[in-house]
Amino acid sequence: MSDNRVWSYSAVLMGSPILLKLFSHDEALASRVFSLIKQYEDLFTVNRADSQVMDINHAAGHHPVVVSRPVYELIKCAKAASQLPDSAFNLAIGPLVKLWRIGFKGDSVPPADEIAARLRITRPQDVILDDASASVFLAQPGMEIDLGAIAKGFIADRVRDYLHQQGVSDGLINLGGNVQTLGSPQGGWTIGVKKPFAAADALVGSIEVVNKSVVTSGTYERYFEQDGKLWHHILDPRSGYPLNNELDSVTVISTDSLDGDIWTTLLFGLGVEKGCSLLRQRQDIEAIFVSKNREITLSSRRQFRFTPLDASYRLTD
Ligand code: ADP
Ligand code: MG
Ligand code: MG
Repeated sequence: MSDNRVWSYSAVLMGSPILLKLFSHDEALASRVFSLIKQYEDLFTVNRADSQVMDINHAAGHHPVVVSRPVYELIKCAKAASQLPDSAFNLAIGPLVKLWRIGFKGDSVPPADEIAARLRITRPQDVILDDASASVFLAQPGMEIDLGAIAKGFIADRVRDYLHQQGVSDGLINLGGNVQTLGSPQGGWTIGVKKPFAAADALVGSIEVVNKSVVTSGTYERYFEQDGKLWHHILDPRSGYPLNNELDSVTVISTDSLDGDIWTTLLFGLGVEKGCSLLRQRQDIEAIFVSKNREITLSSRRQFRFTPLDASYRLTD
């Protein structure tokens, strides 16, 4: 039975608070959704010793590992994104992520020679795939796949598909940075765009979407300060250092949250101007760039309505 009341369900999974919104009171469905998320987390995590991705990493330089289809397909998609021209996305970034330890205890700027050494074992072409056996082989010892930038998007899409299959017409899943929506209650779902480096509930604006994913990546999500500089968790696979440009955050509106995840990272690497010009060729992907100088740039606004909420930010589109 569906009514106009929104029911919220929450859990902590993948190290984040997860929020599910439904228009029916259905504890059983909510707990099935949370266990689906948990199952995928168990396949993809690199924050524990045992997962299919960790099996691949442990076998680096030794032998291929056969994985389940979802893991294989996600890795295949991540490799393709990593090999786009001048891509800031790299699925083999693991050794650098582990070196920087950003957001974990004891994080500090690593020595330059260590960064250079790790760069040599982060090449996407050294991730060798075999479609027939669904196996993954990391050709260099020490290589590590890290799906931290896209696992949430993939999982958000699976939750959407599951809810759809269960007959849910209106719903929302928020995996912390990744929001995927079904339907259009009262004309659309309203989703906030966070104000960088401000209180958790402070917003620079909000958008209204129908049947869309909204993904935000921000430098303010995880970082540390050293030598008067801010070192955040989105690394430039070309330099081995955090991506350093005019941006504080990128929000991507798309149908699939997996695309949102890949594009936030690609656009972070490109910056506002190049990013907007690339998006002119894509009807299906739109972005909101929030810059350090307090400018908000919309690449276009076909799939959403934007409402500015902070007078100290200037909207430029
Ligand atoms: P958020 O944590 O805000 O969702 P992202 O979605 O961009 O941000 O994911 C960041 C995570 O992705 C990092 O913590 C790390 O595990 C991994 N990562 C960092 N830099 C890259 C990169 N250039 N390409 C792919 N994955 C990355
Ligand atoms: Mg993310
Ligand atoms: Mg991303």
